[in-house]
Amino acid sequence: MQTHDTVSAMQLLARETHATGQTLGFVPTMGALHQGHVDLIRLAATKADVVVVSIFVNPAQFGPNEDFDRYPRALEADLEKCREAGAHHIFLPSRETLYPKGYSTYINEESVAAPLEGESRPAFFRGVTTVVAKLLNIVQPDLAVFGQKDAQQLAVVRKMVADLHIPVEIVAGPTTRDADGLALSSRNAYLTASEREGACAIPRTLEKIKSMVDQGERRAERLVAEATHLLADERRIRVIYVAIVDPATMKKQLTIEPGNSLLAVAAWIDQTRLIDNTLL
Ligand code: AMP
Repeated sequence: MQTHDTVSAMQLLARETHATGQTLGFVPTMGALHQGHVDLIRLAATKADVVVVSIFVNPAQFGPNEDFDRYPRALEADLEKCREAGAHHIFLPSRETLYPKGYSTYINEESVAAPLEGESRPAFFRGVTTVVAKLLNIVQPDLAVFGQKDAQQLAVVRKMVADLHIPVEIVAGPTTRDADGLALSSRNAYLTASEREGACAIPRTLEKIKSMVDQGERRAERLVAEATHLLADERRIRVIYVAIVDPATMKKQLTIEPGNSLLAVAAWIDQTRLIDNTLL
């Protein structure tokens, strides 16, 4: 496994890989890797000959009062996990490489990115689309893997790639969960044991709503009300949003379309902001 920190090294790697008829798979991350990232890297390795992982805590997607400075960083452990998962190349750009002094070009997807996360984190998707577009131009992969865990991010990236004619296949990887049901997230490291117990109301709620749909409930309003009620029962949780939306457009649905309705939740557990979702 090799590490690289320049744009030119990655673009050379893309040229060489494609010249020999091999395919490139790409997994962008912000590091502090966990089993969810490992599963995405393994998925990329089943679909592409050469796997590139990037590790970059993207300042452009953090708001002024968010956790950029205290976001967990664990480079040595990350490299070990990448190696075990079957990554071949790691791209570790510096902040100055991706955003040199005077940097001034940003990408805004204006529809899928507008509701939910877009409403509660105004600069977030502008930062995500900008860095993902840049990374796709640098790594030039045939396919890029994103987690279903961040379902709106996945949908925004798909829309950007389609709108900008970026020649890459976007592959979704399923959400990896801990034994207690909590979706793995680098931010789970912020939770105390008691907060973590409270946070588990989120996956429990998703499961309960899914079972109501399995039993025939189709009214989105009824399901959103029940989910909100279940989450509000947990005193350590402050709900930011609960919504049932189309998984591609993020537009609200009135009626569940089994297999094509996304229940998305964001909540504060004390100072930690968590998101989760399930396809209904
Ligand atoms: P991050 O490092 O948090 O920016 O995430 C990098 C990638 O890993 C994104 O595509 C995320 O959606 C994905 N990811 C994060 N958590 C999980 C999880 N629990 N299961 C699967 N994928 C995940």
